[in-house]
Amino acid sequence: MLKVDNLSTSYSTIDGPVHVINNVDFEIYENEIFGIAGESGCGKTTLLKALYDIVEFPLVIDSGKLILSGEKNGKFFSYETGEIRKTWWNNISYVPQAAQSVLNPIAPLRHQFLDSIPREDRKNEPEEKTLKRVAKYLEELSLSPDLLGAYPFQLSGGMRQRVIIALATFMSPNVVLADEPTTALDVVVQRGILMMLMGLQKRLKNTMVIVSHDMGVHYQITDRMGIMYSGSIIELGETEDIFERPVHPYTQMLVGSLPKVGDKSQKVGIPGRPPALTNPPPGCRFAPRCPYAKDVCLKHAPQFKKVLPGRFAACHMLKREAN
Ligand code: SF4
Repeated sequence: MLKVDNLSTSYSTIDGPVHVINNVDFEIYENEIFGIAGESGCGKTTLLKALYDIVEFPLVIDSGKLILSGEKNGKFFSYETGEIRKTWWNNISYVPQAAQSVLNPIAPLRHQFLDSIPREDRKNEPEEKTLKRVAKYLEELSLSPDLLGAYPFQLSGGMRQRVIIALATFMSPNVVLADEPTTALDVVVQRGILMMLMGLQKRLKNTMVIVSHDMGVHYQITDRMGIMYSGSIIELGETEDIFERPVHPYTQMLVGSLPKVGDKSQKVGIPGRPPALTNPPPGCRFAPRCPYAKDVCLKHAPQFKKVLPGRFAACHMLKREAN
């Protein structure tokens, strides 16, 4: 469905390129919620932008590509990096970070829906007819059709987020990418947004990719997830398995630092800080914080490989699983 083939990206700066995504290689399947987790600055949002083909200077793709393929209305489609934007809204859509503030403040929501539906999909349909379809869709999502007459400032942050999700899913895209969809919302509203996303995925049977630094979000709604560290995915697998049996030292420390119901033990954070992307250490980038680091880790970057059925990780300590 969405194949990321050895992708590397960098930001062009006056001091030279800053490599943000390094040789990332994985697949996201049809009919799943896939999570991308990691600390701030690890490259999650840049990776999501690359998935959406919204790579614009100073961000550049250094190597690798993306392939978005699937079937819609009985027709097979396949787009590569540079072409994916041709199918925005139809086959892939994007809920950006701080989505609540991307709505045009001086236009009622009906204009924002009309603007986001590609003209070819409206097929000369009168606006009133399109708006009736939108109103019906809002009702199906338990949102009031009266919202179409409202301005964004009249809505709460949570309601604006729901409207953005409705906009992003109206065309029933095969893939929906959402960047930190619950950030800056209180826990009750967060829960409602997560339920809305899960309900939509079940209904559309499509693929959702959720970026969040909040491991609780991944635990609640994702089927599989990738853990990012300093521009690379360092562990990937089924979410439940990763929480139960993390294999990469970073993931082990990350999961070990999370509070659990009934566990009163003192939790400690991961010592140290992630390396600056402008000057990363040679070898494994987690080595300066890793309690198991050996000489080889300081010299050679570990390969991202299959280490268990359905599980991939990048660590010299882990053996490659036979295919
Ligand atoms: Fe730690 Fe070495 Fe594995 Fe990196 S490769 S996580 S330093 S053991």
